[in-house]
Amino acid sequence: MRRDYRKVEENFYIKKWRGRVPIALVFPVTYELGMSNLGFLTLYERLNSYNEIVCERVFYDEGEIRSLEGNRLLKDFPIILFSVPFEGNYVEVLKILKKSGLSFNPKENSQILLGGGVALWSNPEPLAPFLDGFLLGEWEALEESLVPLFIDYAFNKETLLNKLLEFDFFYSPFYTEKRKVKIAKISLLSKPLKSNLLSEKAKFGKSYLIEVSKGCGRSCRFCLAGYIYRPPRSYPVEGLLEVLEEIPPYSKVGLIGLEFANKEEVKILGSKLLSKNCILTFSSLRIESLEKDFLELLKSTKTIALAPETASLKLKKIINKPILEEDLIKTLENLKTIGIKKVKLYFMIGLPFEEIEDIKETTGFIKKLLNLKLPFQLVFSFSFFVPKPHTPFQWVSLLDPKEMKRRKNFIQKELSEVKNLKFESLNFTLLQAILARGSSQLKHFLLSLAQENSLSRSLREIKDLNLYLSPPEERDFSFPWDFIETGVSKEFLWKEWERAKAQKTTPFCLPQKCNSCSACSLFSRLKIKGSSIF
Ligand code: SF4
Repeated sequence: MRRDYRKVEENFYIKKWRGRVPIALVFPVTYELGMSNLGFLTLYERLNSYNEIVCERVFYDEGEIRSLEGNRLLKDFPIILFSVPFEGNYVEVLKILKKSGLSFNPKENSQILLGGGVALWSNPEPLAPFLDGFLLGEWEALEESLVPLFIDYAFNKETLLNKLLEFDFFYSPFYTEKRKVKIAKISLLSKPLKSNLLSEKAKFGKSYLIEVSKGCGRSCRFCLAGYIYRPPRSYPVEGLLEVLEEIPPYSKVGLIGLEFANKEEVKILGSKLLSKNCILTFSSLRIESLEKDFLELLKSTKTIALAPETASLKLKKIINKPILEEDLIKTLENLKTIGIKKVKLYFMIGLPFEEIEDIKETTGFIKKLLNLKLPFQLVFSFSFFVPKPHTPFQWVSLLDPKEMKRRKNFIQKELSEVKNLKFESLNFTLLQAILARGSSQLKHFLLSLAQENSLSRSLREIKDLNLYLSPPEERDFSFPWDFIETGVSKEFLWKEWERAKAQKTTPFCLPQKCNSCSACSLFSRLKIKGSSIF
């Protein structure tokens, strides 16, 4: 039975279809997660801001696939946009097509099926056989070009595709030879993105989400977002204050993208929100940023998440995240003063050159933290490292699954007394790893999974699994995603990989003062306020 989320939502759009272009905005994951995704919410609100467009949301659901607002079938929409946050959700994209009676061959569908989202910007190839094309880039940089085309040619698929092909941010494997495609990025930030659609059933509850910066200049070598959004950009204080005016008192507010925001400006924004009796939540917090003067902002926060990744100094240098053990302990001690209830700590297993000694350092560190007898709950989450395209670790082999299991068992044994210990599933890690560095040759693998076959059965559809799990460590090896330009040169990524092997760290980005990865040269008019990064 269809659930009526409108009873728990505020600020949704109900529009008549007559005389308008219907666009389905599909999030191939749950409603709860989609409603906490600022990119997805922004797209919904921006498209509906045009009188000529009616945009309705579709989520992955066990039941029939229908739009939330109009209860329409996906086939009823001439334009279907998939917003895909993770590689792990590609299978759901196929399941949605199947349940909706759409063909897996895009040429057989009269509707135009397009994909976007960070996972697809980095490597759309695994989904290339199933969609008409991919929109690579930040919506603010695409909107002006796309919306007039959607309005004029929604019901003429061929013309719309031909028009889209004029843009170098559009990739369509069916209609062109492979060519260079550029990820479109906005050069000058002004007013921050803010979501207005609120839902009690969203992961963070009824929260306004505000983006305080784009990208991150900390250069953690495993992090796709840290590379694909380069150069890092922060919003000016005037823009932040303008958004602040729109937030009603006593609201819940989630601040997204603190990594590169100017620290002083976030403090101003945060304290003004607190003076309006707002409750603040943070998508991510940097351990070294939680000095005493910032803790004031966390007064209304119950849970925070921190990601030390490892306690091994060797691995910290390799991944370029050299957070000192004493800094994390100092931060946790500081948190005692403000009534936090829970701190989630994220660690990774299988980082490049990890040995059992490195894991012992992490388990030893966790024991040390527990001995501090902190007055809040500590939750320890372990995920397995997945090498991502467009990062210096794109040449790295995934840890053998048998070895993953052995290391997981080791941690469980070492920390057998610890209650709040969580591990990512091995199968999900393997799936992510294959799809992250996948090619269009994975078509039958994905089709098999969409037919509910097990992962081990579906793996038989892959001719050379090693190509995805353990590519040759050669500087000029041709990856399926090499045709996508992020602004960061492959030469730079290779140099960073060499530095990682030599355990050399790389300093934070200094936009306008550096051109080492080439991304800053993307914007001749780039303006980044202040030099202090958050
Ligand atoms: S050019 Fe320098 S400052 Fe700009 S994104 Fe690259 S490393 Fe960072």
